[in-house]
Amino acid sequence: MPVTVVGSIAFDSVKTPFGERTRMLGGAAVHFALAASFFDDVRVVGPVGEDFGEAELDVLRRRGVDVSDIEHVAGGETFFWAGEYGWDLGSRETLDTRLGVFADFEPKLSASARESEVLFLANIQPDLQRAVRAQCTGARFAALDSMNLWIETARDSLIEAIATVDCLVLNDSELRELTAKPGLLGAAREVLAWGAPGPSVIIAKQGEYGAAMITDSSYFSLPAFPLETVVDPTGAGDTFAGGLIGYVAACGAEAIDEELLRRAMAYGTALASFNVEEFGTERVARLTGQEIAGRVAELERVTHFSDAPIELRG
Ligand code: AMP
Repeated sequence: MPVTVVGSIAFDSVKTPFGERTRMLGGAAVHFALAASFFDDVRVVGPVGEDFGEAELDVLRRRGVDVSDIEHVAGGETFFWAGEYGWDLGSRETLDTRLGVFADFEPKLSASARESEVLFLANIQPDLQRAVRAQCTGARFAALDSMNLWIETARDSLIEAIATVDCLVLNDSELRELTAKPGLLGAAREVLAWGAPGPSVIIAKQGEYGAAMITDSSYFSLPAFPLETVVDPTGAGDTFAGGLIGYVAACGAEAIDEELLRRAMAYGTALASFNVEEFGTERVARLTGQEIAGRVAELERVTHFSDAPIELRG
């Protein structure tokens, strides 16, 4: 099933303990689209400024991503984000966020984008997520990601946006912040209890610790793929979402049940593990399907155990 994604299309300046890059291609929708492109047709919706050129578009085109819904705003500036990571990459500080052309963006989707059966509202101002969701009336599966900035500055709109999707994908700490619940399970179940319409699946991203999936009746958790060297975690969450949602899309008419979503998480986890090995989109841009399949198989192996019950005292 074709996938449409709206979200930041950006230039990122990033500093990690392993180096820095200025104004590299980034953005939630870009990381998502590159990852999802391994599974199905992907189309990106969003604006870019005059500073966004053919070289940037080519990174997406080379992966077969449809860029015809990317709007070029004359005289405008592309979304810009700058961030710096702590010594163990466990913490990140946002140094700058400039909405640029996203500030006045009024999405007008093409017929093909509106008809997409799978929709991902990647991280961006929630009013825009809602405007896009309203136009995609045929979506069979819609998911949404967000971040602390929007929880803090546009909470009501974000809650309305969440009510329009089937699946919420959010950082563990942001899920707690959104709900003011101190524990992950409690926070996820709180969102589920907001009721219909609203998500029936919550996926909590836990950075280097992996991700958890929570529904009303189930819990599933997968660690991150074990890596000795991580260079730049920027976009890992979006790449994870791209693998996850891309897998769902590629399964076509199959029922989107717990088992399918567990496998989808494994693909998202594998994709994210490649993303963090180099800066920005560098690694995923030259990834192969065979490499992804190899890591999914390895992930299956490292997460497997079989119980051999023993007599327990007491
Ligand atoms: P992640 O590391 O998965 O949280 O995503 C990093 C990406 O999110 C970067 O490429 C940024 O361009 C983008 N980003 C950062 N802040 C925002 C924001 N407030 N809204 C939308 N996208 C953002």
